[in-house]
Amino acid sequence: MQMRYIILLIFIFSCTNQNLKSDIDIKVDELISKMTLREKVGQMTQINLTVIAKGPTKWASSFPMEIDEKKANKALVDFKVGSVLNTINNTAQKPSVWFENISKIQEISMGKNPLAIPVIYGIDAIHGTTYTDGATMFPQQITTAASWNPENAYNMALICAYETRASGIPWNFSPVLDLGIDPRFSRQFESFGEDPLLVERFGVEMIKGYQGLDNDISNKFNVAACMKHFVGYHATISGKDRTPAYIPDNVLSEYHIEPFKKAIEAGAKTIMINSGLINGVPVHADYNIMINVLRNKLGFEGVILTDWEDIRKLHDRDKVAKNQKEAIKIAINAGIDMSMVPYEYEHFVKNLISLVEEGEVSMGRIDDAVKRILKLKFELDLFKNPVTNYKDYEDFGSKKHHQLAYKAASESITLLKNNEDILPITGNPKILVVGPNGNNMRTLNGAWSYSWQGDLVDRFAGDYNTIFESVRDTYGRNNVKYVSGVSYNKNGNYYDMIEENIGEAVKEGRKSDYIILCLGENTYTEKPGDLNDLNIHHLQRKLAIELTKTGKPIILILNLGRPRLISDIEPLMNAVVNVYLPGNFGADALADILSGKVNPSGKLPYTYPLYPNSLLPYYYKPSEVQNNAQGAYNYVGEVNNLYDFGFGLSYSDFEYSNFLITEDTLSSSDTLNVEVLVTNDSDIDGYETIQLYSSDLYASITPDIKRLRDFKKILIKSGERKKIFFNVPVSELSFYNNDNMEVLEEGRFKISINNLSKEIYIN
Ligand code: BGC
Repeated sequence: MQMRYIILLIFIFSCTNQNLKSDIDIKVDELISKMTLREKVGQMTQINLTVIAKGPTKWASSFPMEIDEKKANKALVDFKVGSVLNTINNTAQKPSVWFENISKIQEISMGKNPLAIPVIYGIDAIHGTTYTDGATMFPQQITTAASWNPENAYNMALICAYETRASGIPWNFSPVLDLGIDPRFSRQFESFGEDPLLVERFGVEMIKGYQGLDNDISNKFNVAACMKHFVGYHATISGKDRTPAYIPDNVLSEYHIEPFKKAIEAGAKTIMINSGLINGVPVHADYNIMINVLRNKLGFEGVILTDWEDIRKLHDRDKVAKNQKEAIKIAINAGIDMSMVPYEYEHFVKNLISLVEEGEVSMGRIDDAVKRILKLKFELDLFKNPVTNYKDYEDFGSKKHHQLAYKAASESITLLKNNEDILPITGNPKILVVGPNGNNMRTLNGAWSYSWQGDLVDRFAGDYNTIFESVRDTYGRNNVKYVSGVSYNKNGNYYDMIEENIGEAVKEGRKSDYIILCLGENTYTEKPGDLNDLNIHHLQRKLAIELTKTGKPIILILNLGRPRLISDIEPLMNAVVNVYLPGNFGADALADILSGKVNPSGKLPYTYPLYPNSLLPYYYKPSEVQNNAQGAYNYVGEVNNLYDFGFGLSYSDFEYSNFLITEDTLSSSDTLNVEVLVTNDSDIDGYETIQLYSSDLYASITPDIKRLRDFKKILIKSGERKKIFFNVPVSELSFYNNDNMEVLEEGRFKISINNLSKEIYIN
């Protein structure tokens, strides 16, 4: 070929290539070509706000929140730091304060640096905009999952995005896509529960709510989502936060990765890495998980962020790096793009620069990371709109937003027991509300509410109702009394309780027609929530037992972040209602359910255990069943739980019949068509969640007892019969085998809905 043709071809190719590049990619390339190494490394650095706020130390700032120019100049201009997170002193701020401070940060970063690159501000807005005074607090994720209506997750994210932007912040470290597989784990409440399909369905709705249906995060009502914590975070051996997990690859693929995969397909922009370790390897050092799995297999192209101080921990805690510099080398080479340092940023920047100069980290790796970060900043339109102004968000904390939070709570609250239809309570009875969670906004909200551990809720949530207040508003001031009985220790340690006035509670109980006993947990997350005993505190059990001496019906309200064992007191209760962590409108929703204004429709998103040594999700293996008193192994029956996954009562009675499967022999490319008739056999309209399960009867690795494949929540009016259809692609009945390959093996499967089932054959 002649030389000029070759030149022409190269020219045409480069033009097409340019065209294929988006405008943003071109801008990123242009910008990066002008950046020094120091500027690049600065972009990869994230610091805590306290580091640049006025105050005595890097950890403690002074009120009111204000940027310290000198500290900010050093971090943002000398060290070129590109990202800031968190609030000061773990405390919520007003939107106007956020606006002033983030404006100041951008003014310094863009005004004093020649390339005028904006800072990207990130925050944990977990069930509403955690750190903003006046924000709408929705139920926590576990509660939302109990609604079995993913629309509630969408609404939560939509409102949270709006109110986070109203606080000037464009990036949210949410949703949690961890599989909430362990009732002991201190963050189970942050998850959508133990089932991968629930996590996936609710997780995808969160991404849509945060990033918009068109995935346009330049829109000032959307934020960039950050899925977390990739991956396998809750599956530890000890059940404690950030402790070792041992997870084979096929188990990771089967249960833990799938929800992330679907969120990536939905366009999630960023991801945070699991702070723990899997098979002895800290995930922040794991090239296989970040590059082979996340980048290559799942095709994730966004920013990979560390969790808190996790590069440092490779040396300090996990001992895989001999010093801090080696820790940085390992993590960046394993795929980290941005380090949540968040305090000792000078060391991070200097060490990473020398690692590049010494050839230990390639410039290619740095450019790759920085390109992703700059792309995110362009996509968020931060170069043109570095901070959003609270004045443009008149719906912040509005009634409209509150109603959606109330709706989510009212659809989630789960009726677990209702002997002799004692609920709803109508008329004008005398009611005693009792227990440490009965007059407590803090416990309704949980952690990540106005502060990290939720300990400041009372300062910010005075306008909302506790359970006692809502019940009193419903049944009348003269009819309702509150006595604590026992209470959480004022020192703030969540498992510490003191006995207050059990005698008085019993005395008041005798004078009442009903006792509403509110038990559960105080607020916690992460390490402070680590637990040595899953039993509910013994003083709460004592209170329950003493109250039974009144002979009055007791309605137990559970207000907790994980299913604490109540096996000894549960048989003494006439009714049990789980409100989980329902947020600021949870008590109103509960009172409406107790009085019958709302018909309960929540179902458990986790298994409620009966025994401390049987903490299994519903998809256990057959050999877990050991129910023969003589010690023989007959493996029939089921693992005994207090309440099963997916269980929840209604004031309506639903009957299932006419279960049909169109074809009983199917191949992998077919669709499984199932129908069932559900009849509301009562005089109350109600929502029912119809759950479709499959059981692979024999497979090359031991199959799970059953797996949820689809669900639908629908309104069935009193006396109405509704035909429900499911169309599940047969390929979704596959599993990951020992070679970590997704396979669908020939054989028999049982398909079930409620108490009805049929077998099919897959060839
Ligand atoms: C938590 C993350 C959180 C981060 C920033 C960490 O301790 O594990 O979930 O996003 O802090 O606050």
